[in-house]
Amino acid sequence: MTRLLELRGVSKSFGGLRAVDDLSFAVEEGHIVGLIGPNGAGKSTVFNLITGVYRPDAGQVLWRGREITGAAPHAVAALGIRRTFQTIRLFGEMTVFENVRAGIHLRARQRWWQGVLGLPAQRREEERLAAETRAVLARLGLADVADKPATGLPYGLQRRVELARTLVAGPALIILDEPAAGLNEAESAALNETIFGIRDQGITVLLVEHDMNVVMNVTDHIVVINFGRKIAEGNAGAIRADPAVVEAYLGRAGDEEAAP
Ligand code: ADP
Ligand code: MG
Repeated sequence: MTRLLELRGVSKSFGGLRAVDDLSFAVEEGHIVGLIGPNGAGKSTVFNLITGVYRPDAGQVLWRGREITGAAPHAVAALGIRRTFQTIRLFGEMTVFENVRAGIHLRARQRWWQGVLGLPAQRREEERLAAETRAVLARLGLADVADKPATGLPYGLQRRVELARTLVAGPALIILDEPAAGLNEAESAALNETIFGIRDQGITVLLVEHDMNVVMNVTDHIVVINFGRKIAEGNAGAIRADPAVVEAYLGRAGDEEAAP
């Protein structure tokens, strides 16, 4: 098995607070991996450390065995590590097709000399990209709404459009930030199918999520963090039964109830 992404002893502090504390875990190629933890556990910070938004204070980040610690976001993206956003960022005045088609530009700089080659070559390229876009739309069940304005769609579909836009960029690893947030039950069930579909396309998935139930049915492997530290790691069954995990979730739930 190929180790696609690896964190080795990664730490990140904000002032006196250790948001991520000596964290190590690996993501194997072809897997769906869950990174879970209660609110404030450090998930978003880990996310930002992987995508190059933050540089770790200590430790290493490796991609296919090579160190990429401290690489800038555009360099990380160029490696094929792509993220979705927790908030929807679609172009309101564009159709679903156009929104998703725009994602291809993220993949590679448009070749400036393409125009020089003349119309037929350019048109062939345009047709090829349109076909790729339509294929992704079909795979995500968005073919019927391809010509509709993106922002007029129900929330769950808008999130799927955003996912489609990330997929056409051809990532090797896609990191989903709380993808089930705000989805209803049916949408959430559909999301599971979508995630399996992404994996079946050969794309590795890292699912960052606070709701344990969301990751239980889809992941091959789960890493649990609390207070920036790894408290458990394993498959869904092992995680569910792990006393440290139960304690972390119940403890925090109690805190929230006690809060004013
Ligand atoms: P999660 O995503 O699991 O809810 P975060 O990574 O957002 O957790 O936060 C982990 C801890 O780090 C929290 O205590 C949070 O308040 C703190 N934190 C996160 N980002 C910053 C920041 N930019 N500045 C200061 N503290 C931060
Ligand atoms: Mg977060």
